[in-house]
Formats: sequence, C-alpha cells, structure tokens
Amino acid sequence: MLKKYVYSVMGFMLISLQSIHAELPQDSRRPGGIAVIPLGQEIKNVRFNQQNILISNENTQRYAILGIPLNTPIGTLKLETNTQPIQIKIKPYAYAEQHINVKNQDYVNPSDAQLTRYANEAKVQNDVYSSFTPSTWQALPHFIRPTLGQFSNSFGRKRFFNGEERAPHSGLDIPAPIGQKVVAPADGIVVQTGDYFFNGKTVLIDHGQGLISMFCHLSKIEVKQGQHIRQGEVLGLVGKTGRVTGPHLHWGMSLNNARVDPQLFLRP
Ligand SMILES: [Zn+2]
Repeated sequence: MLKKYVYSVMGFMLISLQSIHAELPQDSRRPGGIAVIPLGQEIKNVRFNQQNILISNENTQRYAILGIPLNTPIGTLKLETNTQPIQIKIKPYAYAEQHINVKNQDYVNPSDAQLTRYANEAKVQNDVYSSFTPSTWQALPHFIRPTLGQFSNSFGRKRFFNGEERAPHSGLDIPAPIGQKVVAPADGIVVQTGDYFFNGKTVLIDHGQGLISMFCHLSKIEVKQGQHIRQGEVLGLVGKTGRVTGPHLHWGMSLNNARVDPQLFLRP
C-alpha cells in the first residue's frame, strides 16, 4: 500500500518536473544565448547593465532568465541582486560566416537620406527592445514556431555584404513561400508595426518583462498597433520586403534588450 503510494507520488513528481522544464527556454550560456538561473529565496530582484531581468515563477522555484547580448565577452558575467551578485560563465560559440552579394547598392552603401531613415527606425525599435512591461503570466509560457518551413542555424552569423562586414544576424531565417501565414509564437501585445528600410514590413510583439518578438520582410501585416494577440493567431504573411535575397520570415527574439537565438524558445 505504502509502496504503491510512494511510486504514484514519484510518478507525479516526474511528470510535474517535466512540465516545469518544458516551458523554460533552453539554457545556453554563450553570446546570443540565454541563461536560466534558479534563484534562492533571499533574492528579490536581479539586474544586468541597470536593466530588469525576466523572472519566471515555476511553481515554487523562481528563475531569472537572462538574454546574453551577442557582443558579450567570453568569461564571467556579473548580475546585480539585492544580496550577493550572481556570476555566470559565458562560453565561446563558433558562429558561421555568411557572404552575400546584394545587387541593390542602396542596401550596401545607403545614402544619407536612407541612413537618416534607418536611424529613426532603429530608434523606434530600440525603444521597444529596452521597454519592460509587467507580464500577464507568472510562469513564462512556451513558444511555438511562427511559420512552417525547414531552416538552418542562421542566428548569429557574421555577415559580409559584397565583402563589407556588417552586424551579425540577429534573428532566425525561415525560408517560406510568399503568402504563407505567420502566427504569434505566444500571447502578447502588438507594440509596433511598420515598413522599414532593411526589415521591410515588420511586426513587434511584447510578451511582457522585456521579452519581445519580431517578424520581418512580411508581404502583408494583419494586425494593428496596441492589439492583443493570442498564440497561434495570424499576424501577417511571409514576403520579401526590405533587404532580402528571397522570400523568408526573419524571426527575432529580444530579452532584456539582447537579441537571442529564437531556437532556444522551441523544444529541442
Ligand atoms: Zn534574417
């Protein structure tokens, strides 16, 4: 009788442990990665570079979920807390190089007017990335793929346009046909829509606590700024607007204003 009870409790514990961890992003402590840090009871708040960090409450355990910027040096990274600082180790990761030849010179060497336009657009997007709104959830919800399609690991690639080095690729490219549906990977609020110089038609969704998703190069936007969106709801259609070599979805994820690998939000 007791044995049976113990086994059923153990079975329950295994199931609950699995469901707890299934919702957390994968821990990958590299530039462009994510650190999932269990917090002791005494830690009330965690900050990195004066920014708030996302906290997920998984039943009784709290986790700080840190986005590690792509330009983070290898070595020890320190997080401030209300007690002792937390130190984590950042490991190297060999991102691939990508050499692209773009025919439209405007995208390689933009004019002053185009650069001004781009600077304004970048500021709007950075304001969104550095925002920190309260979340409607206690435990970070799980994310689904925003569109169908096979993809390779394109996040973090060092990019050269016609031989000139540019910023590393800050999202994941999913090749897909024009007109294919793009859905919200999790619930959130549409915080920005626009037609941008490099990114083309773009939607940004705020999922709360500094977690923002971004969808670029759309052929059509089907949501409005300020709108609440549920996981799986259509936000737009795949396209090839902006600086692209072919139709695909560029899916970006930003956490505490750090662009991180979207694959870490999907179940491996
Ligand atoms: Zn891309």
